[in-house]
Amino acid sequence: MSSTGHKFEGWLGHDSSAAEGNMKWGEFEPKPWEETDVDIKVTHCGICGSDLHTLRSGWGPTNYPCCVGHEIVGTVVRVGSKAEGGLKVGDRVGVGAQSDSCQGRKGDCEACASGQENYCQKHYVGTYNGVYLNGGKSYGGYALYNRAPSRFVVKIPDSIPSAEAAPMLCAGVTTYTPLKHHGVGPGKTVGIVGLGGLGHFGVMWAKALKADRVVVISRSAAKKEDALKMGADDVIATEDDPDWTKKHASTLDVILCTVSSSNMPLMDYMSLLRFDGTFVQVGAPEDGLPSIQQFPLIFKRLKITGSLIGSPSDLREMLQLAAQQKVKPWIQEYPMKDANKALVDFNAGKPRYRYVLCNEQ
Ligand code: NAP
Ligand code: ZN
Repeated sequence: MSSTGHKFEGWLGHDSSAAEGNMKWGEFEPKPWEETDVDIKVTHCGICGSDLHTLRSGWGPTNYPCCVGHEIVGTVVRVGSKAEGGLKVGDRVGVGAQSDSCQGRKGDCEACASGQENYCQKHYVGTYNGVYLNGGKSYGGYALYNRAPSRFVVKIPDSIPSAEAAPMLCAGVTTYTPLKHHGVGPGKTVGIVGLGGLGHFGVMWAKALKADRVVVISRSAAKKEDALKMGADDVIATEDDPDWTKKHASTLDVILCTVSSSNMPLMDYMSLLRFDGTFVQVGAPEDGLPSIQQFPLIFKRLKITGSLIGSPSDLREMLQLAAQQKVKPWIQEYPMKDANKALVDFNAGKPRYRYVLCNEQ
């Protein structure tokens, strides 16, 4: 129980079996309070592929106990005297995958100085499984409360329901930011690889940014109808159509790849790029990417790059775009008490297209 009486409890992973739906409900100690912090009563939290990678120690050893969840929406219940952003008790707010950075407190940091805190090179703090500058551990949103530095807390526009805002805070911004950065808009054709939580946002942002053509690249045709409803102009089913690389060779300017497994035909995806095209990897397989052949890069001057979530200002900009263009994620709500079942279903590839855990109001 914290000094203010808010009970910080949630779903804790104690070892890698947690990812199979073996989290245990329990109390945790949030970071030691600072006057720049806010406490949030969590109402909703999306389930991201990264939660599973982390619970199973897939990217390296996780610092258990670990409460995951970084698509958090809730209500502000406590505001520090030095909090930024005009936050007030009662505000409806969100926290994404990052909840602190060095903010210049560790000397010069080009990324923080230029408002790209998501690329902080001195002290990046993830919303869970991280350590704050004051030594406290970060715990995520599969919980009743969350404590976060105010710099990383954003207000949710009134027109966006909380359950829909939640997945925008990681899946949404992770796809919005690179599409914008790489000039997706009128005159561009875009491929989105993997129609999952991230990928379905990729399709909707590319349309909202007015790209000429958006093509979904999925393993099968099973999600084709959904992709077209989301606004895709075409769907390539790589495991159903043996001729897909021939039919679609050199047709795309930008490819955004959300695939979470190394079992992917990377060079075949890249063959869909035009001369000077850009391949952006955002999916983060636990065993790396397949090998890359040089000649396609050399002969077409292709670029291969990555992208990490978004900054607080990217989050605000994305939420504005979502509100203006009425971008509506495809979500399925789960009661918070059923979080373990939701993980099992997520592992089985069942979400259409994002699960959102909801606390009782
Ligand atoms: P997700 O909902 O499971 O979506 C991943 C999609 O990848 C699947 O729906 C599937 O789409 C496709 N896929 C293709 N080959 C696959 C294979 N062999 N096994 C499984 N899936 C395959 O996951 P997500 O939440 O969108 O996350 C995707 C990845 O992005 C994760 O690795 C996550 O950690 C990472 N991520 C990165 C960032 C960042 O900042 N870079 C932020 C958040 C998440 P089809 O069925 O259409 O083939
Ligand atoms: Zn995420």
